[in-house]
Amino acid sequence: MSDTEPRPMRIRREPPAFRRIAVKGTEPMSGRMIRVTLAGPELHGLIVVEPAASVRLLLPSPGTDDLVMPSWNGNEFLLPDGTRPTIRTFTPRRVDPEALELDLDVVRHDGGAASEWAEHAASGLPAAISGPGRGYTIDRDAPAYLLGGDETAIPAIMQLLESLPAGMPVQVRIEVSHFEARLALPEREGVNVEWLDQEFGAPPGDALIAAVRSAELTPETRVWVAGEAAAVQRIRRYLFDERRIPRAHAAVRGYWKHGRAGDPDDES
Ligand SMILES: Cc1cc2nc3c(=O)[nH]c(=O)nc-3n(C[C@H](O)[C@H](O)[C@H](O)COP(=O)(O)OP(=O)(O)OC[C@H]3O[C@@H](n4cnc5c(N)ncnc54)[C@H](O)[C@@H]3O)c2cc1C
Repeated sequence: MSDTEPRPMRIRREPPAFRRIAVKGTEPMSGRMIRVTLAGPELHGLIVVEPAASVRLLLPSPGTDDLVMPSWNGNEFLLPDGTRPTIRTFTPRRVDPEALELDLDVVRHDGGAASEWAEHAASGLPAAISGPGRGYTIDRDAPAYLLGGDETAIPAIMQLLESLPAGMPVQVRIEVSHFEARLALPEREGVNVEWLDQEFGAPPGDALIAAVRSAELTPETRVWVAGEAAAVQRIRRYLFDERRIPRAHAAVRGYWKHGRAGDPDDES
């Protein structure tokens, strides 16, 4: 193919349909996180079984309160005017199938469409969600777990802590950019938690990488880590190349990419 020929469009499977919902309320969880409760009859049938799953949240275009539904063109969602909709990924922190409610815990950070939206989300504002995306299958026979992440991973880490077998030794390492991002984690026996402060001016994830390097690890330890894409890529290399941890024993996920809006995996 010559450089001037248009690239053939990649065909991808259409994600689950969006369910229209609306903001029911918000609650500050910490100085760095806001819980947004969404509700609506279209949440009927939304079932999230595993911890650390995901949903895609469709928001009104920045500066408007009207939700325009996008359509799938075989590769990506587009709005009727051809622009890309604002879609971000979050952990479904709590799904209540009776009350038809869904809680998302959103990190407050500068310059983020979803972060800004959560900050000002008034009751009744429309939104839509699609999902759930795959969660994490806990290995109940593992001898120990290491859970690591940054602020965006706190909701998933809380769910993992709630789901791990009682008494399982768990090391938890969480990097925060502000002291006030620390939250009370579910109380459990056998859990050793270290909060790591991101050093001023340091790239996101540096403190987490150092903590993973100094964690107690055997090839049998199961590892779950999520955070900034470049940082978790370094963690992947450390675990797989330096420590020779079997790939099946570690789930390492990029949750956001420094300097880029949207999902790190969504290269559309
Ligand atoms: C499976 C999965 C689950 C996730 N769960 C959660 C969750 O429960 N809660 C949550 O808050 N996030 C979660 N995330 C991460 C979230 O999708 C991203 O942080 C997303 O970019 C936030 O959207 P935004 O519109 O606020 O910022 P964007 O508009 O996407 O980004 C704008 C700018 O802000 C930067 N940025 C994005 N996120 C952060 C951040 N956390 N800190 C500092 N700078 C940032 C970007 O690099 C970019 O420069 C999850 C991601 C995945 C893939």
